[in-house]
Amino acid sequence: MVRKEEKVLIPCGIPYIYGSVGSPEKDLIPDSSLESNNIDLLIGEAEKIEKEKKVLKVAGSEDVKYDKLIIATGSEPIRPPIEGIDKENAFVVKKDINYLSSLLEKINNSKNMVIIGGGFIGMEFADECRKNRDINISIVEMLPHCLMLTFDESLCSYAEELIEKEGVKVITGERVESIVGDEKVQGVKLASGQTIEADIVLIGIGAKPNSKVVEGSGIEINQKGAIKVNRYMQTSEKDIFSCGDCCDKFSFFNKESSNLMLASIATTEARIAGANLYKVNRVNEGVIGAFSTIITGIAFSRAGISEVEAGKKGYDIVIGTAEAPNCHPGCMPDSNNLKVSLIFEKGSGILLGGELIGAKSGGELINLISGCIHERMTASSIATFQMGTHPALTASPIAYQISNAAEMAIKKLRE
Ligand SMILES: Cc1cc2nc3c(=O)[nH]c(=O)nc-3n(C[C@H](O)[C@H](O)[C@H](O)COP(=O)(O)OP(=O)(O)OC[C@H]3O[C@@H](n4cnc5c(N)ncnc54)[C@H](O)[C@@H]3O)c2cc1C
Repeated sequence: MVRKEEKVLIPCGIPYIYGSVGSPEKDLIPDSSLESNNIDLLIGEAEKIEKEKKVLKVAGSEDVKYDKLIIATGSEPIRPPIEGIDKENAFVVKKDINYLSSLLEKINNSKNMVIIGGGFIGMEFADECRKNRDINISIVEMLPHCLMLTFDESLCSYAEELIEKEGVKVITGERVESIVGDEKVQGVKLASGQTIEADIVLIGIGAKPNSKVVEGSGIEINQKGAIKVNRYMQTSEKDIFSCGDCCDKFSFFNKESSNLMLASIATTEARIAGANLYKVNRVNEGVIGAFSTIITGIAFSRAGISEVEAGKKGYDIVIGTAEAPNCHPGCMPDSNNLKVSLIFEKGSGILLGGELIGAKSGGELINLISGCIHERMTASSIATFQMGTHPALTASPIAYQISNAAEMAIKKLRE
């Protein structure tokens, strides 16, 4: 393995550095699994691929020869062309320990923070930064709602309500025009003319594939800069594979190109690429997209197609919902409500998507829903699958949310 940095962060844990976890050093992926599997680690930046010679050029090191090569160079945060973005104390979310340590120090010494972008990253940062700190936080989101690229409107509004109750100001439907100040950030100017005071600005508006290493190699990339791969995760060069944020993705449902970049997708693709190096063993079936987040202790999860997306893509759907405590009886310690909505295709009755809100156990239940989508299960098979239940651990079998949501959908499918 050739890796640019000595120590590597758990990227999904980055927002938690600023609250629950406490420092970048506590958010690291250990290298013990490399050591115990005799995998050599070369620290250095891969700069160029010479595919004819089967050689990788690495800065500060001898050439690395390969028979098979996997490119997993990930993504980089998008730096929008906003005036003033280069001012001191304007940060993006880089997966870099020193950079994130300096962000921590700056947040600890700031009074007013503006977060540009109300997606997962922006919302998670706001929720964590507000903890144990005396700081005013505002989120500025261009779309009508935060989290709108992921959840249906009612869930987005609820998430906004939750975070606002904790003192975070949410400004939606507003575009940041510039970051103002002399050398240092002093505020952000919105397109509507309003200026919000800020001594720190965090930009969390998404990421773009990092395919720099293939430049000049002849390996094909798409218009988004993602490395093109086939269903075996093989690039246009037969002995070179790619997986994760740096490579192209397509939808599980209609095979159209997908912009989703998730650790869960990267890992699945890595398992496929690794298994196929010497002979085809596995096939990539595309991105289902299972996400979770937690805002002020309430879990929000989704997998597959949302109601809005289904409408845009012309799917004929029915939705079944069910809500119940995630323990039984509901007065059990740590019991919390969990609401499930399942989206089925009319006619076929096949599960297309699901949304969960409430108890933290939703973060696991969404994975079961993603599995049901992957196996193209119908409302009837979901209503009758056998679950394991326990008073302290799950909903009651009578109130089991996904079975009951499927039953509710079956009623509508019959109508
Ligand atoms: C703040 C944040 C929160 C997130 N939360 C979630 C979440 O909750 N759930 C989820 O599923 N996803 C989440 N994601 C997305 C997830 O982190 C990415 O999808 C995932 O990290 C992709 O993995 P990857 O291995 O493809 O790329 P990366 O994690 O970007 O890793 C690429 C690695 O390659 C190295 N590298 C790059 N170029 C070179 C080179 N030329 N030479 C040597 N090494 C190089 C990089 O330094 C890095 O170590 C989050 C992302 C962020 C930023």
